[in-house]
Order: sequence, then structure tokens, then C-alpha cells
Amino acid sequence: ADGGSQQERVVTEEEWLHKWEMGNIGFHKEQGHPLLQKYLDVLLNGRSGLRIFFPLCGKAVEMKWLADMGHSVVGVELSEQALKEFFSEHSLPYCEEPIPEISGGKLFQSTSGNISLYCCSIYDLSSAIVGKFDGVWDRGALVAVNPCDRQRYVSLMTSLMEKNSSYLLVTVSYDPNKHKGPPFYVPDSEVKSLFG
Ligand code: SAH
Repeated sequence: ADGGSQQERVVTEEEWLHKWEMGNIGFHKEQGHPLLQKYLDVLLNGRSGLRIFFPLCGKAVEMKWLADMGHSVVGVELSEQALKEFFSEHSLPYCEEPIPEISGGKLFQSTSGNISLYCCSIYDLSSAIVGKFDGVWDRGALVAVNPCDRQRYVSLMTSLMEKNSSYLLVTVSYDPNKHKGPPFYVPDSEVKSLFG
């Protein structure tokens, strides 16, 4: 299968917000993702105090793990509800401020300063706004992006990466004719051509 049956599918921003409102968030993993633990060494590559990016972050608990290890975590998420739930579920105090460059965008930052979550569309970001990253945890992100936006997403991600950064990508393998997504099926061959 080449995912052809999913190429035209579009999930709107409103639909994502609605999923959060309805608690229709089966993608959220309370216990965190075992593959991050398994490949943590690959992500860190012996380095400490990294800036790590979580695209389409939801309320991923791995953000707390990495912050607790001394890294600085930046996420981006459309749903304000998701970000507020993240801070409240981990009992983390935070402050909230507008993002001057992004109309309607808000930045939620832990009071300790090491977790900064942007509430806006990822396509509103640029390295001028968020800087560049030493590591990326992409789980439920590339596979959640509408198929028509994949190239744009990957170009943006590439522009946000430092020279010696590492990028952990989780994809899912299944027959795209049997499920409409998201998560979408992104074959390995496409991952190779997208990231080069
Ligand atoms: N990575 C998270 C969430 C995966 S679900 C995890 O592992 O749990 C995908 C998330 O992306 C949803 O929370 C959705 O609200 C968000 N999202 C979808 N499109 C987005 C966009 N253009 N910009 C920012 N966030 C987006």
C-alpha cells in the first residue's frame, strides 16, 4: 500500500480542537512512550542541557520527563485546553503571555522556565520566533499532519534544527485502505524522500 487512499484527507484545526473538547484523545499516552526510553541515548547522544522540540505536542508526558532531566523543552499545540491540562496534571505552575509575532498565539511557560509551550499552529512558527533545536521528538506529529502538508511540515522542521541535532520519528504501519487516519500511514520510502 502507498497511502494513496489518504492523500486527499484533511483534518481541520476545528476538528482537532473538538477532539480535545470531547476527550476524544486516544493518542494520549498516560505512561509515556516506550520508544523514547528505548532511544533516549540516540536523542541525547551524550549531550546535556539540550533544547528539545515537541511538534504537535498535545499534553505528552515525555515533555515533563525531559525537563526533569535538565533539558529545555519547547512544544507547539493548537489546543489551549491540552496545554492547560499538561500543566495542571503535573502540578506545574505556569504563566501565559501573548506571542507578539503571532496574532492570537499564546505562550505558556512553566514558572521554572524550562518548558515553553506555544499555543498556535506549527505553521506560524519560524526559527526567528522559537530558535533552533538540538533534538526533536516527533510522535503523533508527522503522522498527524495532513498528507498535503507533509512537505511544508518537514521543510519547517528542517529549518528549526541545529547542525548536530537528532530527530526521533515514530510512525505507524498499517493498511491505509482500512483506516482513514489520523494517524496517517507514512511509508518509510516517503520518510526518506521527505527528509532526504
Ligand atoms: N504528540 C502528541 C499528540 C499527538 S495528536 C502525543 O504524542 O500525545 C496530534 C496533536 O496535534 C493534537 O493534539 C492536535 O491538536 C495537534 N495539532 C494538529 N494540527 C496542528 C497544527 N497545525 N499545529 C499545532 N498543533 C496541531
